[in-house]
Amino acid sequence: MTVYLVGAGPGSADLLTLRAAALLARAEVVLYDRLIDPSVIELVNPIAELIDVGKRPGGSHTQDLINDLLVAVAARHETVVRLKGGDPFLFGRGGEEYEALARAGIACEVIPGVTSALSAPLLAGIPVTHRGLSHGVTVVTGHAMAGSQIDFGRLANADLTLVVLMGIEHRGEIAHQLIGGGLDPKTPIAVIEQAATESQRITRDVLDQLWGLDVANPAVIVIGAVARLSHTDSLLALGEQGLSALTEG
Ligand code: SAH
Repeated sequence: MTVYLVGAGPGSADLLTLRAAALLARAEVVLYDRLIDPSVIELVNPIAELIDVGKRPGGSHTQDLINDLLVAVAARHETVVRLKGGDPFLFGRGGEEYEALARAGIACEVIPGVTSALSAPLLAGIPVTHRGLSHGVTVVTGHAMAGSQIDFGRLANADLTLVVLMGIEHRGEIAHQLIGGGLDPKTPIAVIEQAATESQRITRDVLDQLWGLDVANPAVIVIGAVARLSHTDSLLALGEQGLSALTEG
C-alpha cells in the first residue's frame, strides 16, 4: 500500500506530468479535489474507484475526515492516488495529508505538479519575473486575511511580483493594505480565472480598481509591473519609457 500525492497541474490534462498520468492509469482508488478538470479524470484507470473529496462551503469533508479516509483506503489497496490541483504542497494541504499517512505508517510518495501560481500568469502571457521589471516573485494566500495572518502592507515592493491565490474574497482589503504599505495605486494587476480550462478569462486593471472587478474563484491575482505584459506584445506594451528601463536593467 502506497499513497501517491499527485499534482494534477492547473487545468487541462496535457499540463500534468507523465508520472502523474502513469499513476492515474494504474491506480485502484483515486481521491480528488473540487478543482480537478474533467480531462484529468478521463485519464483514470476505468476500473478504479473514484472518490470526490472536494471541500465545498458548508460541505461535509473536513480536512480531518479526508486524512482519516486516506488512511482507511490505503489500508485496503496497493495503489492509491490522492489527486490535488496544481502542485500538491502549495496551499494544497498536501503536507498535512503526508503527515497523517506517515503517522499511520503508510508509505507515501509525492509527485510535483505545475502550480497555478506560476502557470496561470504565464497562460495569460505574463512572465512573473522579467529583466528590468521584476526581480522575483512572492506567492501568498489571500485566504488568511480574516485572521489577518498576512500583513500585505509588508509585502509592498515595486521590484517584486506578487501572486495571490485564494485572494478574490478579500481583494479589496489586500489592495488597501498594499497601497497603505507604499505600493503605487496605479500598479498594474491581472486576474486570471479558471486558467488552463476552456473558461479561462483574463482581466487587467490597476491596483486601486481591484476591489470593483467582476471576478470569481478560482482565480490568481498578479500584482506588479509585469501584469501589463503579454508575451506576444511585451515590448510594445512597455512603451518607450519601459524599453529604456529594460535596456538599463
Ligand atoms: N495547489 C494549488 C493551489 C491550491 S489553492 C496549485 O498549486 O495551483 C486553490 C487556489 O489556487 C484557488 O483559489 C486559486 O487561487 C488557485 N487556482 C487553482 N487552479 C486555478 C486555475 N485553474 N485558475 C486560476 N486559479 C487557480
